[in-house]
Amino acid sequence: MNQASKDTTKTEALPGLATKLVSSVATGVEDLASSLLKPVVTTVDGLANIAKGMYTVVKHTARDPITSAYPHRMPELYPRSRHRLALNVDPDTGEHLCIACKQCERVCPDSCITVVAHDSVKAKSTQFYIDHGLCMFCGLCTEVCPTDCIINTVDFEMSEETREDLIYDIRKLTLSQEQSREYFKLKEYKTKSQKEAEKQAAAAAKAAAEPVAALDPAKEAACKATLAKMIAKVKSGA
Ligand code: SF4
Ligand code: SF4
Repeated sequence: MNQASKDTTKTEALPGLATKLVSSVATGVEDLASSLLKPVVTTVDGLANIAKGMYTVVKHTARDPITSAYPHRMPELYPRSRHRLALNVDPDTGEHLCIACKQCERVCPDSCITVVAHDSVKAKSTQFYIDHGLCMFCGLCTEVCPTDCIINTVDFEMSEETREDLIYDIRKLTLSQEQSREYFKLKEYKTKSQKEAEKQAAAAAKAAAEPVAALDPAKEAACKATLAKMIAKVKSGA
């Protein structure tokens, strides 16, 4: 290789070397900056979190306590909150509303309902068991009940000494007429008589809204002729 070609190779290699040098210097500067800044960022972040925590403490120190004085004062629960299950009777007549359709039994994901239908009387249950120890208070049974019989009450005090005591029978589950009336109001259910009255009012409104059908003129004439004949017959004494 002559001198001229050696010089040309050196000149071509120089820009590559310069690029590598610049890139390694830049990486070094970046590493230095990040290692210097990292503790500062961590410290600022930590202080911000401490300030946030202190703000929460101060805010809650200044406000009134919200602790409920239970059991001296009973908490006011939402009407649709789901607690102990119970069976309604008709608030007007006191008749038991369970028709032994077993829909609640079928839908229960925990299989904690057992309905025993009456042997001879249709649409009547003789026994009804709910194991509150298994129940998860999902409310599905109350959703499917066609007669608004089974409900979740707002009574959450159900502590018992044994698991067996958490199995309620029909006697323990059935509410009184007055309690049923209260729950019908609370849950905005309609009684049988209210439903019947509404049905009759709707039928009357429908009948009033329907136009009276016009009489067929030919039929009307025929009716009049028959009537005239009958009157004439009566008058003639035939
Ligand atoms: S509330 Fe849910 S788990 Fe409890 S009995 Fe009804 S369906 Fe079963
Ligand atoms: S769904 Fe209602 S009516 Fe049917 S068995 Fe259950 S409580 Fe009785």
